[in-house]
Amino acid sequence: MGRVAGVSAAETRERLLRAAADVFAERGYDGSRVADIAVAAGVTRGAMYAHFGSKAELLVCALRTHGGRVLAEMFAAGRERSATELLTVVGRGLPRLRDAQGYLLVEALVAARRDQNVAAPTGHYVSERAEWLGDLMRAAQARDEIDPALSPNALAHLCLLLAMGSALVTPDLHAVDDGDWAALLTRLAAGLVPGRHHSTDRNTAVKLLINSGLCQGHGRCYYLAPDLFGDDEEGYGQVLGEGAVPDDKEREARLAFANCPERAIDLLEEVSHGGP
Ligand code: SF4
Repeated sequence: MGRVAGVSAAETRERLLRAAADVFAERGYDGSRVADIAVAAGVTRGAMYAHFGSKAELLVCALRTHGGRVLAEMFAAGRERSATELLTVVGRGLPRLRDAQGYLLVEALVAARRDQNVAAPTGHYVSERAEWLGDLMRAAQARDEIDPALSPNALAHLCLLLAMGSALVTPDLHAVDDGDWAALLTRLAAGLVPGRHHSTDRNTAVKLLINSGLCQGHGRCYYLAPDLFGDDEEGYGQVLGEGAVPDDKEREARLAFANCPERAIDLLEEVSHGGP
């Protein structure tokens, strides 16, 4: 394995990946030469080829290590967040400008259209993430957080389009107001939760309660449904007003209900048989 004196093989590999990420981000895939990456990493071309067989391999390995920040964040956040919360939390940051390496994915996608050597590993990279997102959606459906009638694959595809599209449509090309974007994402997430199951000849009023003995103050309720929940001085959740949910806020109520990790929220459906 090619090594720089006094530097381990792992460190040499990391140097090469860092240099590749910088050079590809600055000059694009077509404009980057393997020799320039080796120079930037402070290694010989021979040492470089001992670690990576081709420029295409370098690009995809650099993407896995230093690029795709949005997808990497989704991966990391997905371990502790629900699918709908992931959509709203990670989604809020999508319109912001990234550092240069955040656009490596764009380089890989563009290069994949012309170079078969890039197409196969980039396709594999995207498929892995689509599969992971699909599993996340299936798990959310099993927990009743997402409507089981929706296709997990279609939901995963939507997340990929949002993450990858945001690398292409940067804020200098088209900007969106932070508040407007957050409100839209919350509405989208609320549209994914299972709807109520009742017959149409009955009027059902929805009411929220928080079991203060169970609430641990995670704050997901007032983050996801700020019109329905607030927090006390210690950060524990509280329903606003009497807990009655207006018709147009029912989806948000269900979104918060589905996302409380302590199952501290009760969502009561009170049926009234009005009329003659
Ligand atoms: S999400 Fe649940 S545990 Fe967290 S503050 Fe709201 S009610 Fe409490």
